[in-house]
Amino acid sequence: MEIDTTQPQPAELDADRQKKAKEYARVRRRLSFVNMGIGVVGVFIFLFTNLDIWLRNALQPLSWQPIAGWFPWQILAYFLILILGYQLITAPIAYYSGFVLPHRYGLSTMTLKGWLGDLFKGLVLALVLEVLVIELVYALLASQPQTWWLWVALVLLFFSVVMANLAPVLILPLFYKFKALPEGDLTKRLLALAERARTRVRGVFTMQMSSKTTAANAALMGLGNTRRIVLGDTMLDRYTPDEIEVVLAHELGHHVHHDIWKLIISQSFLTLGGLYLVNLALHWAVETQHYYLGLADPATIPLLLALIGAFGLIVLPISNGYSRLIEYQADEYALQATYKVESFKSAMTRLANQNLADAEPAPIIEFLFHDHPSIRKRLKHADEFAAHPRD
Ligand SMILES: [Zn+2]
Repeated sequence: MEIDTTQPQPAELDADRQKKAKEYARVRRRLSFVNMGIGVVGVFIFLFTNLDIWLRNALQPLSWQPIAGWFPWQILAYFLILILGYQLITAPIAYYSGFVLPHRYGLSTMTLKGWLGDLFKGLVLALVLEVLVIELVYALLASQPQTWWLWVALVLLFFSVVMANLAPVLILPLFYKFKALPEGDLTKRLLALAERARTRVRGVFTMQMSSKTTAANAALMGLGNTRRIVLGDTMLDRYTPDEIEVVLAHELGHHVHHDIWKLIISQSFLTLGGLYLVNLALHWAVETQHYYLGLADPATIPLLLALIGAFGLIVLPISNGYSRLIEYQADEYALQATYKVESFKSAMTRLANQNLADAEPAPIIEFLFHDHPSIRKRLKHADEFAAHPRD
């Protein structure tokens, strides 16, 4: 097959937008460090001023225990006080980085009311899930002190499979409207791509991103019978059909490579390892320091959250590295399936311009925080493919 170089006016990186993109990324990064710093300081205050013990004692009236050593009401109240306290203290930062900044940089199309509504829905959803998990953890800490981490990891694995399946039909519609992509040129192109890959696509949907943002995106979502390719409506009207086709091919690549499963499984191994280390640290703290009443003492919540947070931070570069590899492979798939190198490059460039994505972040920043290869690397990948096309 010949390499297509006949696309009209491929997009070019906008120098002015790139300057803004770097600025935007820097401010957001600093704000997330501040957020993290507040969490760290908060945990240290709890751990080193005996506030962790004091709060447990203050919540003593709630110490009903349905099974020996598990205090569900005390755990619930303790956890809510910590989490809601943190949300309250960091609310100005959430408002500034989530609402003020995206408006200042022309990325958000949301009203304050809409933004607050989303914030509230997201918070309630996260709280419900987190409370279920923390109650499970403490019920198991009380009843299975040696193997709790294994059970928790298994339940979380099951849970993430169910959530991955339900998210596109149950969770995301709470935030965005979805529509089936109308039959036409694009659906035909996609079906042709899918046929060549000998795979079946269960559906292509457009997501009304324009109700919230000027940025564009596309994704593979769902598992099993909810598996689908989702295109932001912010992409449909501004990209050439060939550009959208390579984006669809990239998403199809995730589909063909079973990437959602790969991410769930790899994440589960990290979770298992993390919980095991947390288990060791918790046993050490309880059994040698004689500070807590036991493993399932509600006063261990700040320590538990600190350990989980620290582990999450340490493995972030690992999961991001794995994600970048998967994205690289999906790009390779898109290039091989379409041979539309110029359209690929043009689509990437348009995305960087539109989404204010820093095309060339510092290598250390990309290594630590980015789950996609930088636009510059993706463009280079396309050039390498053009120089040595592979089948
Ligand atoms: Zn991707």
